[in-house]
Amino acid sequence: MAIVSNVLVIGGGIGGLTASIALRQAGIAVDLVEIQTDWTVYGVGIIQPNNTLRALEKIGLAKACVDLGGAFDCWRLFDGAGNALFDTPKDNSAAPAYPANNGITRPIMHALLCGRAAELGVPVRLGVTPERFEQSAEAVTVFFNDGTDKAYDLVIAAEGMYSKTRDALFPGAAAPHFTGQGVWRYNLPRPASVKTGEVHSSAHKKVGLVPMSPSLMYMFVVSERIEIARDDPGLADAMRSHLSEYTGPIAELAKLITDPNEVVYRPMESVMLEPAWHKGRIIIIGDAAHAATPHLAQGAAMAIEDAVLLAEMLQGGGAIDGVLTAFTRRRLPRAKYIVDSSLQIGVWEQEQWAGIHSPGANPGMLLGQATHAMMEPY
Ligand SMILES: Cc1cc2nc3c(=O)[nH]c(=O)nc-3n(C[C@H](O)[C@H](O)[C@H](O)COP(=O)(O)OP(=O)(O)OC[C@H]3O[C@@H](n4cnc5c(N)ncnc54)[C@H](O)[C@@H]3O)c2cc1C
Repeated sequence: MAIVSNVLVIGGGIGGLTASIALRQAGIAVDLVEIQTDWTVYGVGIIQPNNTLRALEKIGLAKACVDLGGAFDCWRLFDGAGNALFDTPKDNSAAPAYPANNGITRPIMHALLCGRAAELGVPVRLGVTPERFEQSAEAVTVFFNDGTDKAYDLVIAAEGMYSKTRDALFPGAAAPHFTGQGVWRYNLPRPASVKTGEVHSSAHKKVGLVPMSPSLMYMFVVSERIEIARDDPGLADAMRSHLSEYTGPIAELAKLITDPNEVVYRPMESVMLEPAWHKGRIIIIGDAAHAATPHLAQGAAMAIEDAVLLAEMLQGGGAIDGVLTAFTRRRLPRAKYIVDSSLQIGVWEQEQWAGIHSPGANPGMLLGQATHAMMEPY
């Protein structure tokens, strides 16, 4: 018997949708509110290492992701001229029935999550967000921006890095910060030669190729951070300019980056909420609690693991405060390791680009270690 019977999930991103699905699967009533009215996700892709697939299996979506994505064994590392250096280990020990990695487009991932939530009857209200909460020992009453209100046993805030609920509950406790780098992404046709994930490192940039289907991949380019608007007509030129020091296959692919509307550029940011992650009957999960830079491709994995574990723990016995405290204690080391390791890789990359030699700097080794660590149970 679950210790909650009705839950509000705030945020219809990867974490919020996964939480809604996992709770509904457990027979718990869920309402989901999403602040966007059109509920769109941008068109590039997402990498799902094997531990992501293990967690997605819990909500019945691992196989669909692999069927509709681009599975790959490992990362192949290259120099800036296109010479292969080495492959990272192929570790699928978290979910041996699935590949070590899968790439998938964000719109397909979103459609799969929305489809599963609809199948389970999760009511979704778009353009809706809480304006305030009133908590008692037994319930939290939520007053929404559409004038309605409702009492819940638990509220899960999965609002992403700029979570209003986190800031209201824990003022000043966690502020997203820019890390000095930016990342550019663009979908491209997948050449037959791209058989794994690829990382091409030059003196001042890192470029990746991520399979998303047999015929599609995306390119990411990690650069120093620049100021440029999301709708700047010069986005494609700016992305190409970051590839000018490449020769070989990356230089050829760069010629295909022509449409500024298809370029997705984001300055890299990170945030870590030190515990507690809950106050009373409201808990913060996913990027709202621990957003990592994308160096380890583990942000969504952490949000999905949070969601499935929380749903699981709510089905055991105990007082709600104890369960939420135990949940945070269990998730904290893993999420913090990913945030800290991702930041470390970013620091090493920036030092290398600046010509600073840091003893012990080894991003490839840390990527391998972190991948391996994430195969351990969550
Ligand atoms: C460039 C880049 C590349 C990445 N690549 C990868 C990758 O390859 N693999 C990986 O695992 N992770 C990756 N990540 C990280 C991943 O995208 C995030 O960790 C993940 O999306 C977090 O999910 P979330 O549900 O916690 O937050 P979000 O995805 O940010 O979702 C939050 C949702 O809440 C809604 N919302 C916000 N505020 C409110 C409110 N007040 N009321 C109601 N709704 C609200 C938002 O509109 C949104 O829909 C990447 C991130 C970046 C920036």
